[in-house]
Amino acid sequence: MGFSVKIKEDAMVASGRHCCLCHKFCGIKIEIHHIKPRAEGGPDTLQNAIPLCFDCHADMRTYDAKHPKGTKYTEGELTRFRDDWFQKVRGSAGVQLGNAVAETDKLIYEKLLATLPWEGSLSFISTNNFAGFSFNTDSLNQLYAFEYLCSTPTFEFIDSDLEGAKANLLNQIRNFSRLIGYNTFPTNNSGFNHVPPEWERENPQHFDNVVNDIHNSASAVCNIYKDLTRMATRKLGIVAGLS
Ligand SMILES: [Zn+2]
Repeated sequence: MGFSVKIKEDAMVASGRHCCLCHKFCGIKIEIHHIKPRAEGGPDTLQNAIPLCFDCHADMRTYDAKHPKGTKYTEGELTRFRDDWFQKVRGSAGVQLGNAVAETDKLIYEKLLATLPWEGSLSFISTNNFAGFSFNTDSLNQLYAFEYLCSTPTFEFIDSDLEGAKANLLNQIRNFSRLIGYNTFPTNNSGFNHVPPEWERENPQHFDNVVNDIHNSASAVCNIYKDLTRMATRKLGIVAGLS
């Protein structure tokens, strides 16, 4: 069996097609997970359904109770995450400038801009050539500061669209940090890293792939950031860079 078309529709509308755990907007890359597993008698009802992105859903499936690594989500936790997110989507339908919701989100957005303004790490990665050139690792510090800020539970937009855009940004910045972490190494010049130039001689194909991945991820980060700032201008009336 599985969830009926009606329940799938209800779940998609209620979640706004965002993942209920990481809040990322998923579009069609979304799946519905049984909070209580079907193997344990969990029913195909909306009450037992939680929309998840592919990554979060994969985490649910790979958790092995016999060899536990990490801490499993309980059914109660999943239900709470789901209910909180559905509530946020419902509440966001009528967000208007000047009400208490928008005032709270303005504070969150100002904190985001102070931590991660365009001028700085973002403008750096939008133009830097990572092929064969070393870079000052401090140039990326604002990205790491944003990742750290996102681990604060109160750093969460009330508006579901803004929260989804923030989650997408975090996701792509994590991807960028991972690429930098795996593929760049300290040079003789202290504080500077590079993609090792010997890779270009020894395995040019791999070198090109690595550099392309870094450049593509950097431009994805910058595009998502611009989407977020445009949305915030529209919803909150705050224009980034003009405060
Ligand atoms: Zn997710």
